[in-house]
Amino acid sequence: MTAQTSSWMTEDLADVRDLARNFFEKEVAPNIEKFIEQHHVDRDLWNKAGELGLLCMSIPEEYGGGGGTFAHEAVLIEEQARVGDTSWGVSLHNSIVAHYLLSYGTEEQKQKWLPKMATGEVVGAIAMTEPGTGSDLQNVKTKAIQHGDEYVVNGSKTFITNGSQADLVIVVAKTDTAEAKNGISLVLVEADRPGYRCGRVLDKLGQRGQDTAELFFDDVRIPTSNLLGTAEGLGFIQLMQQLPQERLIIAVGAVAGMEGALAQTIAYTKSRQAFGKPIFAFQNTKFKLAEAATDAKIARVFVDDCVSKHLRGELDIPTVAMAKWWTTERAMSVADNCLQLHGGYGYMTEYPIARAWVDNRVQMIYAGTNEIMKEIIARTL
Ligand SMILES: Cc1cc2nc3c(=O)[nH]c(=O)nc-3n(C[C@H](O)[C@H](O)[C@H](O)COP(=O)(O)OP(=O)(O)OC[C@H]3O[C@@H](n4cnc5c(N)ncnc54)[C@H](O)[C@@H]3O)c2cc1C
Repeated sequence: MTAQTSSWMTEDLADVRDLARNFFEKEVAPNIEKFIEQHHVDRDLWNKAGELGLLCMSIPEEYGGGGGTFAHEAVLIEEQARVGDTSWGVSLHNSIVAHYLLSYGTEEQKQKWLPKMATGEVVGAIAMTEPGTGSDLQNVKTKAIQHGDEYVVNGSKTFITNGSQADLVIVVAKTDTAEAKNGISLVLVEADRPGYRCGRVLDKLGQRGQDTAELFFDDVRIPTSNLLGTAEGLGFIQLMQQLPQERLIIAVGAVAGMEGALAQTIAYTKSRQAFGKPIFAFQNTKFKLAEAATDAKIARVFVDDCVSKHLRGELDIPTVAMAKWWTTERAMSVADNCLQLHGGYGYMTEYPIARAWVDNRVQMIYAGTNEIMKEIIARTL
């Protein structure tokens, strides 16, 4: 079966793919075990990627970016999935944090932060989730209350990707505690502000090389110019506008993950023998792999269509919600069936399929749980 070439691929993107593939094979794949052990990537990985132009590829050149599109980011996500890495929170930095700044930042904020994010001098994070609330974002308790020409930020966040390495955090906070969603604003908090503290790097089931952390804000004073955008109370709308891209990133990764699991399992079952023949020769194996190949193909076609629509500015929120829940659920099922076909070796963490199985699970939870995705879809029915 020939591999599907995405409809949105171009010659320019093929060069980006070569560059990204080389980078992941040289700088990331050999270090995955180390990243898992230390629960974070090496800080200079960001700088090395920045030097090669792999950071902020979809940010305009005037802000230090590559002047590309979401397709450039999609290529990077696919190449990261190809080597089975989940340690490096690069897509969150590139396609989420940088895009909040690009979309809502003042000219001064964009000039100040985006060039540094593109070189890797600054690592970005976004802090929505709190110990008491995740899905129900209107209920955040973190406050940014104005006192003169400053906001005073108090509260705590949890499960924050890039938490321990972040230099700049977009914090979802209430600037008006009497309001629900209309009281939410996004504020920029630098990690070197007094009162800012990164707590534990959390001990997770999977994605163990990723520095998912707790953050604490105790009377952190930031200038009012750190409000993202021009007016208070726009945070919820800004989140709703950006979350589709975040969900598309997950779907792109899920498809690439499925394709990777399938390729590994085809190779494994053709080389492993039982009862005098390759495991691949058993009808059950062929049926399971045929099902996985079908899932991967359908997912690829659907997500490619979503990417093309997104590039044209036509991707709607319910469609990307469908892509997010469906691809992540199918990716989990594909990984589970592929793991089974590896027998006991599938349960050994040195086998990429074992890692894919645990790493995939969270995709059904973050960026909006799959139940929330179905709520979004159901509202349109
Ligand atoms: C590895 C990892 C990385 C993460 N990175 C980040 C990050 O960088 N920044 C950030 O802000 N957050 C991050 N998160 C947090 C993640 O987005 C939240 O965990 C997620 O949104 C769910 O919120 P919750 O954990 O509070 O679960 P809850 O909201 O408490 O949900 C618990 C269960 O209830 C269900 N539920 C809730 N509401 C409804 C409803 N209305 N209808 C039906 N079912 C419902 C959920 O689907 C879920 O099954 C990360 C999480 C993990 C695990």
